[in-house]
Amino acid sequence: MPPVYELLIRGGVLMDPAQGLSAKRDIAFRDGKVAAVAETLPGGEAGEVIEATGALITPGLIDLHAHVYHGALYIGMHADRTSLVNGVTTVVDAGSAGWMTFPGFRDYVMPTYQARVFAFLHISATGLTINRVVPELAEIKFAQVEEAARVAKENEGLILGIKVRIANNATGPGDQANAREALRRARQAADLAGVRLMVHVSDTPIPLPEILDHLRAGDVATHIFNGNAEQILDGRGEVRREVRAAAERGVVLDVGHASVHCDTNIARRAIAQGLLPTTLSTDLHNPPPGRIVYHLRGLMSKFVALGMPLDEVIASVTSRAAAAIGKSAEIGSLAPGMAGDAVVLDLEEGQFSFVDGARNEVKASRRFRTRHVIRGGRRLPLPAPAADSI
Ligand SMILES: [Zn+2]
Repeated sequence: MPPVYELLIRGGVLMDPAQGLSAKRDIAFRDGKVAAVAETLPGGEAGEVIEATGALITPGLIDLHAHVYHGALYIGMHADRTSLVNGVTTVVDAGSAGWMTFPGFRDYVMPTYQARVFAFLHISATGLTINRVVPELAEIKFAQVEEAARVAKENEGLILGIKVRIANNATGPGDQANAREALRRARQAADLAGVRLMVHVSDTPIPLPEILDHLRAGDVATHIFNGNAEQILDGRGEVRREVRAAAERGVVLDVGHASVHCDTNIARRAIAQGLLPTTLSTDLHNPPPGRIVYHLRGLMSKFVALGMPLDEVIASVTSRAAAAIGKSAEIGSLAPGMAGDAVVLDLEEGQFSFVDGARNEVKASRRFRTRHVIRGGRRLPLPAPAADSI
């Protein structure tokens, strides 16, 4: 008789905000999906048993902003070697590819990954492949609305939205007319294709409220805690009215940390004023020397230290991230029938330090470590523990 379950995780605490659960639960997997969740399940009926006593189990983590067009994008990371081994079972690529370069990503890179990958398509035809040499929208003719919308439509379910960077190093230093036109074209492409819009809002040449004006429920503003001139706080350090209004109408406020796009002082003040990020994300990319890009579990540790409640931190990388990409029926929860993607985490005690691009330091007394990663109902062999930063 074959075992009833292929894999059983037992003895750990399941934190699954989508089910409102934070309690000891055993979780069983079969045919790549969650088969059962109960206070106790018999281990004898499983092909493999993971003893998770003392550990936290969460749905596989979802990183809403990363760059994994490995091999074509100069800064592109390898989704399995950096994200998946750290518990990120779903990676959303935030505009590495544009309509001209997307087929190579879809046909030759994505199929090599075990991680689940979705994409936002850059409104620039080339995506970010050349942006270390020339701003991707320095010439507005790169923003081709009809072509971008066509490719997004042809890849429905895989391309989840349109991405645009409204930034001095994307639309041209101080070039307000170009920034406005790029935003207009990105909005138009997203509407034509019937998908979300994700806007990079760090170091923008135009006012932040003007950008937020273009965003509706479900659209994403990424790098919300950046410390540039046009930031979410006003001159008195209060969260701007337009930012609160955007949050209230359902705009996704995404961290997109990188190292230069998240100023700890802004995050601390916003959280203290009750403005939590909708989603925590890494903006994972291959950084220039001297810069640090954190893994998602590092950011989770940092935001716990910044005063974000633990269940909110978990929700921001599971249930809320799944909702932000319209995939709540498949991922972001470990309810029976959902994808068999999970992570077994240790919350280690000690003295840890997280530094941002502005050299602000966050001291933490706890941090997450990855014990096991489960993708499609199977435990992945993990390499030796990876460093905290890359
Ligand atoms: Zn990015």
